Amino acid sequence: MTQSETPSTLPWQLSERARKLTSSAIREILKITERPEVISFAGGLPAPATFPVEPMRAAAERILREDAAAALQYSATEGYLPLREWIAQRYSTNGARIRPSQVLITTGSQQALDLLGKVLICPGSPVLVETPTYLGALQSFSMFEPRYVQVPTDDDGLIASALTPELTAAARLLYTQPNFQNPTGRRLPLARREALAELAQHAAFPIVEDDPYGALDYAGEPLPTMLSLAPEHIVHLGSFSKVLAPGLRIGYIIAPEALQFKLVQAKQATDLHTPSFTQRIVHEVIKDGFLETHVPTIRALYRDQCAAMLAALERHMPEGVSWNRPQGGMFIWASLPAGMDSMALLEEAIAHNVAFVPGGPFYASEAQASTLRLSFVTVPPAKIDEGIARLAALIRARL
Ligand code: PMP
Repeated sequence: MTQSETPSTLPWQLSERARKLTSSAIREILKITERPEVISFAGGLPAPATFPVEPMRAAAERILREDAAAALQYSATEGYLPLREWIAQRYSTNGARIRPSQVLITTGSQQALDLLGKVLICPGSPVLVETPTYLGALQSFSMFEPRYVQVPTDDDGLIASALTPELTAAARLLYTQPNFQNPTGRRLPLARREALAELAQHAAFPIVEDDPYGALDYAGEPLPTMLSLAPEHIVHLGSFSKVLAPGLRIGYIIAPEALQFKLVQAKQATDLHTPSFTQRIVHEVIKDGFLETHVPTIRALYRDQCAAMLAALERHMPEGVSWNRPQGGMFIWASLPAGMDSMALLEEAIAHNVAFVPGGPFYASEAQASTLRLSFVTVPPAKIDEGIARLAALIRARL
């Protein structure tokens, strides 16, 4: 978790970069919460019941029967063309056609963050992030030693009007999640998307729209992506982790070709290409409309689980604890009564076999110690109530 935990016996000299590395607070917590008796609201792990096992088995068999030589061979860094074409088609709207040449398949969208860091960030480069933001993005970008500039947010997400020329001066990128943000579950309203799309057309830096949760809006009424509003000016990240399965490690970047060219060079050096076999499996499973029936089942499950957690919070939490009511995604964002520290609460919570993620690590700086993230997707409703009741009792005892 901290550098002091690095084994001190290694006789070799590490790079300065490696010496500065710290582990993700979430991964460390997840290790502890793997004990079966722990009710964990910590991990953002999609519910395994939603993994399409049979369609994947059938797709894998078909590919190995009919296309094994290519599926098991090295392939193009850009990715499997039929999958890139499918993605381009999916994101094309009446007003804006996305070209397959704008699509790069990545090994999870996490790799997209790393590649963007590699090609855009120099030591000291200003990088604009939401307050708070995805911890994994901070980890990826931090490798390249940026200077983070936090953009203010409210319950609706990033405050577009706060992006003044002073705040954005010399920025290399703005990283934002408009849909059901990790960690807050917030969704950016249409007017702010339009303002950001407008800004993107004049800005000297890309707006990176990271959107792994967009399909998980409970009402099934998605707002337009910023990519659809400014298709030549937005860098859009997508992922199959939350709509198929995260173990596949298939994500993608949609970006103007001139940036894509550099990203491909960076990816070549990183892993040559994303696995040929899993790219084909994803394409084989989704190509005939599978997601149209599958995604609504995930939405329905998460909507029910979210409702169960909101009801449990209502039932058990003492006055002074507040939380939001997300319209999609996997997370609720909560605040403890003034002065109460969620990291200290976590230590006690783990001793009582319940876990969550403290909000602090999601801030680039000036962390709000009273915040926390609750994931409602991995724990079944009966356990959700029990876990929230336990947590509420610990909070009440601290009041
Ligand atoms: N971006 C965000 C906002 C995420 O929450 C995650 C996963 N937790 C990722 C990117 C990475 O997802 P993957 O690499 O599985 O596509």
